[in-house]
Amino acid sequence: MKKLNSVIRVLFSTAWKRYPRFFLLEGLKTLIETARPFLGIFITPLLVDELCTSRNLRTLALYAGILVVGECILQVVNDRLNMTLQKYQERLDNYFTMQISLHSMGLDFQLTEDKAALDQLEKARTGMTWYSGGAYGIAEQLFMFLGNIFKIAGFVTVITLHAPLLLAVILVQVALNGVATSRQNKVELEAYGRLSKANRLFGYFGWGIVDFRFGKDIRLYDARRMLVNKWKGYTKESTEGWKWQADKTYPYSMFMTVTGLVRALITYAYVGLLVIRQVFSIGTFTQMISAAGGLNDTLGGLIWNVQELTKRCNYAYEYVLFMEYPEAIPKGNAPVKKGEHLLEFQNVGFAYPGTDRKVLEGVNITVEPGEHLSIVGLNGAGKTTFIKLLCRLYDPTEGRILMDGRDIREYDYQEYMRQFAPVFQDFKLFGFTIGENIAFEDQDREKLERLLKLVELDGMVEKLSKGADTRLFKVFEEDGIEPSGGEQQKLAIARALYKEAPVIILDEPTAALDPIAEYEIYRQFHTLVGGKTAFYISHRLSSCRFCDRIAVFEDGKIAEYGSHEELAGIPGGIYAKMFEAQAQYYK
Ligand code: ADP
Repeated sequence: MKKLNSVIRVLFSTAWKRYPRFFLLEGLKTLIETARPFLGIFITPLLVDELCTSRNLRTLALYAGILVVGECILQVVNDRLNMTLQKYQERLDNYFTMQISLHSMGLDFQLTEDKAALDQLEKARTGMTWYSGGAYGIAEQLFMFLGNIFKIAGFVTVITLHAPLLLAVILVQVALNGVATSRQNKVELEAYGRLSKANRLFGYFGWGIVDFRFGKDIRLYDARRMLVNKWKGYTKESTEGWKWQADKTYPYSMFMTVTGLVRALITYAYVGLLVIRQVFSIGTFTQMISAAGGLNDTLGGLIWNVQELTKRCNYAYEYVLFMEYPEAIPKGNAPVKKGEHLLEFQNVGFAYPGTDRKVLEGVNITVEPGEHLSIVGLNGAGKTTFIKLLCRLYDPTEGRILMDGRDIREYDYQEYMRQFAPVFQDFKLFGFTIGENIAFEDQDREKLERLLKLVELDGMVEKLSKGADTRLFKVFEEDGIEPSGGEQQKLAIARALYKEAPVIILDEPTAALDPIAEYEIYRQFHTLVGGKTAFYISHRLSSCRFCDRIAVFEDGKIAEYGSHEELAGIPGGIYAKMFEAQAQYYK
């Protein structure tokens, strides 16, 4: 009941505001559908009795006319309404899909690796679409439910007037069927839980992997066979899930068919007897038969509505849960000071969520406003993690990080994020235009061109007929371009520069560039970043020469810290050795 309440509240408060016409039309449709059976129930007995008695042609024609014309009008209006309503199905589906997407984009980053959160997202998606029929499906059920209540009131009144005993027979059958349907629904709900994982994996195989970015590796490493075999495995799992559901629900559907037959038999016998005993006319016989059938169907329908509503709301509740998914990191509201910042790590330790291994331990470092810090160390030393903590993609598990003397957890999160312009190793470019990839929506053309020149992409862009309006990749357009790894990195660097944030971070951004290009980028960068605070992570120590300080990470700790001259002078030091090994390339 709680789920039902909250789903109806959440869905309809949003949908009602956006699409009030949908609800008005649904209301009208419900009215018509409620009235419809009663046309036959009241007019047919009159027609039958007229046929059995005086057979006045004009009266007969009048009754038949009312029946046919009335039915036609209702049918036409109903069809029109249905057509209009169906358009809302897509609108509502799109609206809620968009809500899910928007919410996932705003979720705390660390939840993107959280299995429970990912499962919740998947459940919200499936729960809000085909499992529940979405807001549209739930609204339909709700209106049907209301309509059925009115219909039942009508049928009960008609039957009570002539054959009240019939009510008891119908009620018994409906109660039995109700129990069966409820068991059946339980089975289906359990199957849904079981199938959720299989559905997620299907999504991965169906959509994730056909992404052309996997294309090269799939072909060259002949991954297709492995993928197909894995897929077969999951198909088996999924098919077993469906089979399990079918086997479990079959007895219940059988049971319901039998009770229906028994009820029909009793009804005909009882009402027939009343006619034979001349308790009522043949017209009333037909009225009782249709009212009993109608009541039975509608009661069944009502129970189905309740169960269907409960079931659908159970599924859609996953959407509510997802939209209310607890934040992974607390957020403050302190405003961030304008300009450059003083950044401090105080005894920071960190283990990734769900793991015990500390990938950072006892990290202490102060970065002065405008300082350029180079971070070096072997793979897995914790350099990227250090940056992720700084950008608050994760919170430290020990110690704290301060900005301008205040714990970063106290700052307004969005405002804090605005202080950083990182280029991560695994940065992503979108299938949008070059301009959009760098500047997003509000493009300052002049600045854009200046930056393209700076990262030396001006030559490439000039050759494109649509210039910076050329799309990347071929997701949207045939003529989308496929930039090289180096070009992609340059685009990502331009994006970071465009943001003009006080702190700029390059996490091995130059791995795909040749040493000369890299040297150039760093040299330019140094000028461009100028007074801003900058963090550089690079395997190539040429970058270090432009930096004020260097922090050497080893096994999650800062092993050496100082200027290039200081560190290069430590005999047998990590930095000194790394530098010596690489120096030959630069000499
Ligand atoms: P570096 O940037 O110095 O190469 P990272 O900071 O990326 O190192 O990684 C440090 C350690 O943390 C590595 O052992 C890596 O396997 C682990 N690690 C990185 N990301 C995750 C993650 N999302 N979940 C669990 N462990 C991770």
